Amino acid sequence: MLPFAVRKFLYYGYQRVRTRMLGCVFCRIAAREANATILYEDDHCVAFEDAHPQAPVHFLVIPRKHIISLNAELADEEPLLGHLLQVAARIAKEKGIDRTGFRAVINTNAEAGQTVFHLHVHILGGRIMRWPPG
Ligand code: AMP
Ligand code: ZN
Repeated sequence: MLPFAVRKFLYYGYQRVRTRMLGCVFCRIAAREANATILYEDDHCVAFEDAHPQAPVHFLVIPRKHIISLNAELADEEPLLGHLLQVAARIAKEKGIDRTGFRAVINTNAEAGQTVFHLHVHILGGRIMRWPPG
């Protein structure tokens, strides 16, 4: 298997070609073509600070793969979905909100308020959350 750095280089090249056609902002962040404060990245996912935080801690975890939402065909994506949550929980712990509590949110389609159609897990914390959400 090629080293991570080489795979990352090839991946970014591939993403550049594809996002030029698709123009997905999260694909562009994953390809380092758009600015974001990256918290973590690996072969499968990227985590970064939300540009318009809704809580003292608010970051996003996205798959590198362009999956539109939870409405997509996900039969082959179970390990990836689990990985996103595991990475999200690890960063939440690093940010010190694991004990006080945090919320994981995946908005899906218009009525849920999805605005970026590249699957992403929001992690919000650092303040008291209300239930039910608005
Ligand atoms: P959603 O409404 O669930 O689709 O969430 C999209 C989230 O992406 C929002 O919380 C936005 O603030 C955030 N967002 C959009 N563009 C960027 C960007 N370029 N960098 C970081 N966060 C972004
Ligand atoms: Zn995308």
